[in-house]
Amino acid sequence: MNVHDSERLAGLLEAAGYRRAADGADADVVVFNTCAVRENADNKLYGNISHLAPRKRSNPDMQIAVGGCLAQKDKDSVLKKAPWVDVVFGTHNIGSLPALLERARHNQVAQVEIAEALQEFPSSLPAARESAYAAWVSISVGCNNSCTFCIVPALRGKEVDRSPDDILAEVRSLVADGVLEITLLGQNVNAYGVSFADPQLPRNRAAFAELLTECGRIDGLERVRFTSPHPAEFTDDVIEAMATTPNVCPTLHMPLQSGSDRVLRAMRRSYRAERYLGIIDRVRTAMPHAAITTDLIVGFPGETEEDFAATLDVVRRARFANAFTFQYSIRPGTPAADLDGQLPKAVVQERYERLIELQDQIAWEENLNQVGRTVELLVATGEGRKDERTARMSGRARDGRLVHFAPGAQQVRAGDIVTTTITGAAPHHLIADGDLLSYRRTRAGNAHASGHRPGGVGPPGDDADARGVRGGAGPLSLGMPAIGRPAAAAEAQGCAR
Ligand code: SF4
Repeated sequence: MNVHDSERLAGLLEAAGYRRAADGADADVVVFNTCAVRENADNKLYGNISHLAPRKRSNPDMQIAVGGCLAQKDKDSVLKKAPWVDVVFGTHNIGSLPALLERARHNQVAQVEIAEALQEFPSSLPAARESAYAAWVSISVGCNNSCTFCIVPALRGKEVDRSPDDILAEVRSLVADGVLEITLLGQNVNAYGVSFADPQLPRNRAAFAELLTECGRIDGLERVRFTSPHPAEFTDDVIEAMATTPNVCPTLHMPLQSGSDRVLRAMRRSYRAERYLGIIDRVRTAMPHAAITTDLIVGFPGETEEDFAATLDVVRRARFANAFTFQYSIRPGTPAADLDGQLPKAVVQERYERLIELQDQIAWEENLNQVGRTVELLVATGEGRKDERTARMSGRARDGRLVHFAPGAQQVRAGDIVTTTITGAAPHHLIADGDLLSYRRTRAGNAHASGHRPGGVGPPGDDADARGVRGGAGPLSLGMPAIGRPAAAAEAQGCAR
């Protein structure tokens, strides 16, 4: 979610006339889009802002803005801790950033604006998307659950859903701009339909399955993914829509968090381990080659060795293709922070290592089962540092697995599609060193090669003004923390992506 918000922030600023700073250059404006669900987010933010203090002293015209979850949580105390910050804005009013920067510059006074409720869907704002071939599409914001370890509901508010027409219009426009893959995004994506922003639209529990089916009718859209669903609300109509809609990818990332029913209850996660396992059984019955991935938290307050053994048991039975594992640590402001039974770090670490060892072994075995299979890859950029040494390129299979492949003599580009045969496996990636079975140049590959990005925003130095996407203000350069592509990785203890 924050990654996509960063694309919106970059788009807003580019539309207002700012230009992205070249790599390594000193930016005139630095924006921190913060995530409070990450461990030590406060320390990291204030550490990073402190590093900028000397530059701010030597160049008072430089501006620093802090937004996102931490800003929503800390409000004007950001300025007490770092008085050299120029703008503080929250999760509900990211559209205000250009105006706040302008006001701070004009009035020479720091601006703090935190809205308590969503002012407009971020999707209605411009976006400077990072990828020519894959795009996030936000379908809802907020979450109606109250998991005790999670700060998201306090900072993002109750769930509000976009209308299907809005979402599908955005998807169609992205596809018309060359995008081949979209990832539907929501804190609790399969609850979509419980609370439309448009009061004319009635609650519709079938809305998410219907949305997947509608995505299947969009010509040129080759891959549809979604993240993250909640097991308590995962219904069979979604499985059926996944299985019967050809462009919906055979992959499911569904957070388990714990395999112990007692811990799930303490987390206020309303499903139980058997229900979770039942869902993935039905998914595999409908899509035998589906890759299922999850999030797991180790060391939740009060977790006993028996509880942890239950998690290991579910991991053995579920045979996840991959798992994002987190050591529980206190997030101030969450109910779990005040629970008795906080575990010593050494206990959590030891369990974490046992869990990683088991999961890596399973992931490796599952990946070995892929050897000899033919896979279709959407070629990606920068998915593996090894590629330069080995002359391999990287791509994602339809089931989301990362594959490093040999392009041979072909001039393969990111955004193109290849098919190849898996020749080797490691726990976290696959290798395909044989000849390509097929290679298809795509519109997305053309767009990537030319530097065009969906929404009309080009690379640094691109003359977007000529295409009418920038406002033409002065030549300020913009420094944004790096943002990535829709991929399986995430580092959050919530359903935030
Ligand atoms: Fe909502 Fe996910 Fe956070 Fe639970 S973990 S409160 S479902 S965002």
